[in-house]
Amino acid sequence: MPRKKKSRDPLVLNRLSVEELEDVCHVLNGEDGPELQLALRQLIVTWQESGPNLMNMMFADGPLFRDMRESLKVQWVPTDTGRAHLVFSPAISEDKKEKGRDGKYRVSAEGVALTLFYTLTLHPEWDRLGGPCARCARYYIKKTARQTKYCTRQCGSLATAIASTRKRLDEEHADKLRRAIAATRNWPATRTNLNWKQWVSRREPDITSKWLTRAVNKGELRLPEIKQQLSKA
Ligand SMILES: [Zn+2]
Repeated sequence: MPRKKKSRDPLVLNRLSVEELEDVCHVLNGEDGPELQLALRQLIVTWQESGPNLMNMMFADGPLFRDMRESLKVQWVPTDTGRAHLVFSPAISEDKKEKGRDGKYRVSAEGVALTLFYTLTLHPEWDRLGGPCARCARYYIKKTARQTKYCTRQCGSLATAIASTRKRLDEEHADKLRRAIAATRNWPATRTNLNWKQWVSRREPDITSKWLTRAVNKGELRLPEIKQQLSKA
């Protein structure tokens, strides 16, 4: 079921909750469309690769630094208690707006991605954003600080199962290849009318002619030397 589209602005800076982080996650996972997903992913990947170290990221990209500094408006808003809020709303420049079908100008995907990037970087729990998951590539909210690789326990154990199956198949393949090489080497000296593939697969029943052909094509197995004609004396 598609989630209810979130209205994004204005955000209360001093009251950010995990919901705002989840919103960033949903967008990164494509729930608001591929265009916004791509725009935000580009920012997040660069951010992650920087350390994350925002200072380095901004110094490495002057135009982005300028956009970030200029695209945000913060207002002090009194409440009916003794407290005030800091409300921030995007002040996206004209070049990040585009004309919609109804003729009205709206913020482009790039502009929305910028506002989500503010949300993440101003969020007190910014380091709970995890992902992409090593198995399913989704972004997620970390439940513990150690949860750095997989989005869920399920993805973690599936990945382990896949890795161990792959390891077992690799070992089986290596064992077959070892036996095939040994048998192929012996073939030229035998007194058999069988060709080498037939002879090898008779000696090693789990190795078929097809398997041998593939091994030769992949360069894993060398063809045997030519069999010397045995005179029938
Ligand atoms: Zn996953």
